Amino acid sequence: MRTLDDLEDVRGERVLVRVDFNVPLEPGPPARITDDARIRAALPTLRELRERGARLILAAHLGRPKDREPELSLAPAAERLGELLGTEVRLAPEVVGEAAQRLAEGLSDGEVLMLENVRYEPGETRNDPGLAEAFGRLAAVYVNDAFGAAHRAHASTEGVTHHVRQAVAGRLLEREVTVLTGILEDPRRPLVAVVGGAKVTDKIGVIDAFLRRADSILIGGAMCFPFFSVQGHSVGASLCEEAGIEPARRALAEAGQTGVTGALELPTDLVAAAQFSAEAEPQPLDGVDVPEGLMGLDVGPRTAARYAEVIAGAGTVFWNGPMGAFELEPFAAGTRAVAEAVAASGATTVVGGGDSAAALAQFGLDEDVDHVSTGGGASLELIEGTSLPGVEALS
Ligand code: ADP
Ligand code: MG
Repeated sequence: MRTLDDLEDVRGERVLVRVDFNVPLEPGPPARITDDARIRAALPTLRELRERGARLILAAHLGRPKDREPELSLAPAAERLGELLGTEVRLAPEVVGEAAQRLAEGLSDGEVLMLENVRYEPGETRNDPGLAEAFGRLAAVYVNDAFGAAHRAHASTEGVTHHVRQAVAGRLLEREVTVLTGILEDPRRPLVAVVGGAKVTDKIGVIDAFLRRADSILIGGAMCFPFFSVQGHSVGASLCEEAGIEPARRALAEAGQTGVTGALELPTDLVAAAQFSAEAEPQPLDGVDVPEGLMGLDVGPRTAARYAEVIAGAGTVFWNGPMGAFELEPFAAGTRAVAEAVAASGATTVVGGGDSAAALAQFGLDEDVDHVSTGGGASLELIEGTSLPGVEALS
């Protein structure tokens, strides 16, 4: 993968930078960005290119527009970026076209122009060659720093690379790929994967990849219920994904065990309640059979202590997916214990997944891990060993 280090002199050059500014917005007007982490994550690349005298044209998507909905405009992102960079960031009124081209050609060294939401153009997600060519007319140099979109072959992530002189990875994309592939290729051992969240089917590829590589896989969240169901436990009213049962059966068979010891570990106690609600009375269960009418909403204290102990002894930890319904305070303890253990661990620690990152931030621990991935789907695909089209296009 080529990086900014492979880029020739860019002083006075227009450089198209694909960034991931797909930030959460509170509807307005004016719309307000509730978490600007993705914008801040792009700053090293943008600052470096400005220092090198480039003229920046930024491309990004926001949400899934159907018809150029004004509420999915990148105006709030452009404004926030301007504050963070300490310079004006102009927003083009369109993605490509005469006005965007004119604004791009009017840039001076170090100036920054933001294009409108690339998904306003239906050709973006279709990877339309005409749109890719139009991106290539805006700039002859292309930098992709949008890790969160690198698993999609879209016009602004893949197509465009065929219409520029040079296409390289930005610092964020470079770091994401280096850290995540490093876990697969050359991890400090023991390698511990903590996998939780709602659904087995979202993460079975990751579980499979770690079954071949990790020293321990610790399972939590609602995704343990398909596993328990295979083992003949009652799951009560727990969230138990039907389509997850066969993958769970296969994973258990591959792990060579149907109990709770070995590389794949499942919770040994739970916290349950009658409803998914912060007002629900938490009921500790000394075991994993969930009675009729109750749902398992968190791992229990024995499980949390066991997982924390394994994490403390790890050389590398990859954590994806909360241990329970951490958004509800009475059911956040398991996720908090894992987050604290990951933060305190001397291991190389990597966290992927939007909700896991949100949990870390909620506990004030996001500064205490080595890497929080900005790409949910992209980080899972990379860990599964799938090659990402946006990354392939830079090699
Ligand atoms: P990530 O975004 O980190 O990959 P997921 O999206 O897979 O994580 O899962 C997060 C969601 O799973 C959270 O909304 C959380 O409430 C939910 N969840 C976790 N455990 C349970 C459970 N036992 N019952 C219901 N929901 C759960
Ligand atoms: Mg999620």
